[in-house]
Amino acid sequence: MSDDCIFCSIVAGDIPARVVAETDDALAFLDANPMARGHTLVIPKGHHQRIADLSRAESRAVFDLVHELAPAVEDAVDADAHTIGVNDGPDAGQEVPHAHVHIIPRFEGDGGGPIHVAAGDRPDLGDDELDEIADAIAE
Ligand code: AMP
Ligand code: ZN
Repeated sequence: MSDDCIFCSIVAGDIPARVVAETDDALAFLDANPMARGHTLVIPKGHHQRIADLSRAESRAVFDLVHELAPAVEDAVDADAHTIGVNDGPDAGQEVPHAHVHIIPRFEGDGGGPIHVAAGDRPDLGDDELDEIADAIAE
């Protein structure tokens, strides 16, 4: 628990949230400033900033809950699809430094786009560079 973390305060019950699901290691609640009806956040109960900082058990708890909740959220607001995403680190747009997965219901004609728009300009990569990147990741 981090004293000045808003999501830790929600886990502790010190500030209110519209909780929709809870397990031993994860919590889900409605986003207070939703991008769409039903916009839901799934968080680990422990304070970690980045997804890679989670233990395997916490990671499983969070992504299992995402897997379970996404269709329930979609049904609840009669959405056509949903976007699942993580702003993993401040340079990716993370504002609350407690790891969280966004489930954002999507509706035909909602004016949004695919997750690709989040990454900005596309790099122009040749085969050699792609091979190098793949090798570096695989290592
Ligand atoms: P991010 O930019 O990925 O860090 O997104 C943080 C999200 O947390 C935003 O969508 C906010 O609307 C949401 N948020 C911030 N404070 C609260 C809160 N007290 N309860 C619920 N959602 C919140
Ligand atoms: Zn926290």
